[in-house]
Amino acid sequence: MHPGGGRHRSLTEADVSVLFEEPTAALPDVDPLTLPVLVLNKMYQPVRITTARRALRLLYADTARALDESGELFDFMGWLDLPVRMGLDDFVPIIRGRLRVPRIIHLRRYGKMRRPTVRLTRRNLMLRDGFTCQYCGKRGPTSLFDIDHVQPRSRGGEDSWTNLVTACQSCNRRKGRRTPPEAGMPLKRQPTAPRWSHAMQLLVGTARRYKEWEPFLKAG
Ligand SMILES: [Zn+2]
Repeated sequence: MHPGGGRHRSLTEADVSVLFEEPTAALPDVDPLTLPVLVLNKMYQPVRITTARRALRLLYADTARALDESGELFDFMGWLDLPVRMGLDDFVPIIRGRLRVPRIIHLRRYGKMRRPTVRLTRRNLMLRDGFTCQYCGKRGPTSLFDIDHVQPRSRGGEDSWTNLVTACQSCNRRKGRRTPPEAGMPLKRQPTAPRWSHAMQLLVGTARRYKEWEPFLKAG
């Protein structure tokens, strides 16, 4: 037996059939032009998710370049020549063959430096806090929670990422119009505005996401 042997097996019919599968990663009923594309600014920071339709328009207008899997940038003509990888890429049928749907585009001009902003909403606050009461640590569904003003509103506490936390209804009632030290209810952790990467997680939300996006979503 070879060292580390015994792992060899002959090709099965299933292995072979993979070679003849439709060369697309798209679900058959998904319009490839609606697929999500990550938009990076000049500094390679993610700014938003757009549709493939809009991404290709930006590429065609030379406002953006498309990134391939190795991070190389392509203009529209270069992208047209890029082959569609079997089973990995989504594509749009075009007259001269197939146009690969980009997953990431890079804006060429500075424009406004747009950082993703996350709206200060009940749900986003709960997402930031991991659906966990910031006083007692209880976890649960959104219906379990209120949003608590750390410094009470009646005493000048503002609506901000740093003054609002997720609290279960009983902690919220118990705390009342007191500060955490007054109530003897220390916070599990100091509330902060969502970090860049966290903001992106919220921004991306439940959209279909690609592994090509990960390095950019983690950055910063
Ligand atoms: Zn609680």
